[in-house]
Amino acid sequence: MGDVAWDTAQVFTSETPVPLRVTDGKPRSPSASSPAESSASSCKSAESTDPHGSRTVAAGPSLVARIIRRLEGAFGRQVWRRWGDGLEELVGTILSQNTSNINSGRAYECLERMFARDSKQIDWNAVADAPVARLEKAIRCAGLSRMKSRRIRNILRAIRAERGELSLEFLADWPVDKARNYLTRFEGVGPKTAACILLFSFRQPILPVDTHIHRIAIRLALIGPKVSAEASHAALEAIVPRREFYNFHILLIKHGRQICKAHRPRCHDCPLLSLCPTGPTLIRQGRAAASVK
Ligand code: SF4
Repeated sequence: MGDVAWDTAQVFTSETPVPLRVTDGKPRSPSASSPAESSASSCKSAESTDPHGSRTVAAGPSLVARIIRRLEGAFGRQVWRRWGDGLEELVGTILSQNTSNINSGRAYECLERMFARDSKQIDWNAVADAPVARLEKAIRCAGLSRMKSRRIRNILRAIRAERGELSLEFLADWPVDKARNYLTRFEGVGPKTAACILLFSFRQPILPVDTHIHRIAIRLALIGPKVSAEASHAALEAIVPRREFYNFHILLIKHGRQICKAHRPRCHDCPLLSLCPTGPTLIRQGRAAASVK
């Protein structure tokens, strides 16, 4: 279950849900819907100020609605469905930090092979009780395995000690801010990881911002150029309609992987070019990739 592979370029058809993490060969991701235009128009207009003081950005629902509409034209509407429970998403997201989708997926598969019960579900108690060296060995291909294995084990033990069982399902009934605060207390769980867990597992109204979304939001001037990834969560949540959080998140990740790449973005082929203040500059400077159409 799980998490988005932030740095793996993959080609998806417009009808294919983006894999949030690949384990045992199955793509996993979360479903909800409504026309982007109508829902976006209900969002109040927002003017966000760069908290680092460089500039003020005005971005409103009409721009967000147009971005969503055009990306839906390219990739299809993204409909939420649950791909994993909270613990699965938590561990998967930690494994995905600073590595590729492929590597974190392999690490999760190793965990399944080593700790799965007959039902093929991972026995999280066994993971929590395992020597950290065994856990580290299981997730080695995800990188930073020493740090990640300790964090995963510590978080599992803390949840069990507090709740009396290893489950995060209680978060489904918590207000989003309370749930976010609970998760971000754990070492290794930052705003993005907490948002992924709450959106993908519990359909909570929260917008994860990964490296793709952060980069694209700056290029489209939805946020100021110096707004950090962490600060951009709140800035984007203020201008994207809540009911669009999942759709917007997945659309921008697809766009970031396939079109608006970090290096040599495909501005010539981009459906957002006429909305984007950065694309014409990149084209003029020869920093955009040549058209493949
Ligand atoms: S025009 Fe270029 S920079 Fe702008 S969103 Fe498209 S690919 Fe990204």
